[in-house]
Amino acid sequence: MDAALFYEVGKPLRLDTVPDPEVQPGTVLVKVISSGLCDTDYRLMQTGLPMMEGPIIMGHQIAGSVAKVGPGVETVERGDSVLVHFLVHCGTCYYCQIGRENLCENWQAIGVQRPGGFAQFVLVPAGNVMKVPSGLSHADASLIPCGFATPYRAINRAHVGMGDTVVIVGARLWGLAAIRLCHLAGARAIVVDDDERRLTRAQQYGADAAFHVKADDLADRVQSLTAGRGADAALDFTGEAEAIATASQLLRKGGRLVVIGRAGCFGPVNVDILQLMFGEIELTGGCLVRGSEVRQLVELVERGALDVTGLISDRIVLPEINDGFAMLAADRPVSVVIDM
Ligand SMILES: [Zn+2]
Ligand SMILES: [Zn+2]
Repeated sequence: MDAALFYEVGKPLRLDTVPDPEVQPGTVLVKVISSGLCDTDYRLMQTGLPMMEGPIIMGHQIAGSVAKVGPGVETVERGDSVLVHFLVHCGTCYYCQIGRENLCENWQAIGVQRPGGFAQFVLVPAGNVMKVPSGLSHADASLIPCGFATPYRAINRAHVGMGDTVVIVGARLWGLAAIRLCHLAGARAIVVDDDERRLTRAQQYGADAAFHVKADDLADRVQSLTAGRGADAALDFTGEAEAIATASQLLRKGGRLVVIGRAGCFGPVNVDILQLMFGEIELTGGCLVRGSEVRQLVELVERGALDVTGLISDRIVLPEINDGFAMLAADRPVSVVIDM
């Protein structure tokens, strides 16, 4: 089959022909129809991860049809349209046993340590496939497992609830998806970013307000929308220390700040100790996503409560994959999906 493989940090993916995967007991062979390019893929290509060793087929936003099921698999059958939850956990370590599978000591991500979706076929554990909501295209479905599930994890970690005002830091795909998820939760979404084009885009995608992160009066603007208190929660999708520090200053007392998702971000964050103590703000992170969260999103789409369409700006074919990443790097598209 044709596939795009990561070989080494800083190099483009290499198009290769590799053997088709062989179905195993408890696994499902998925014929990939749509495969989304994620900002994380690009950043991993630039920075690598200690556990990511080339050559490996990348790609973790996958939707397709079931080509074969292994012995013992009864949840799906050949021809079913499915999307793929990318996190594989061990089920036996301490964190899996206490129900925190996304912190698994032995986690592997499809498209990072396991062969992923930049290929014609991908072999995944049966527990990682879920049926595509009826009427949804494979391309739109491919955005659910990361594009929507990552901000959904952030929203869960921030305990966003009805009536909340949420500051979303970063208006790439995750930030735009977060606007919709905030609205679904009954919350108001204020987007901040350092790029005017992305701010305009955020408004087009329904942000209740959009402000430049470096605006002198940013805190005043957020306070004026919140009766002088500040935001109930902030979700950072940039992983940039300065933006995280800024977000912390936009919170009300008792506000929650969640940092999530981005690969290749390291180092300390500068949050005011007085604000932590006398403001009792809560600062936390979010790691990957849980299968239950992807499943909940699938059900929300299925019942018509959540719209995941309209976020794909560019469609390409596999041989154009490095051009697709160049587009993402130049920050032009909302998202890029490969039609396999
Ligand atoms: Zn585990
Ligand atoms: Zn992703």
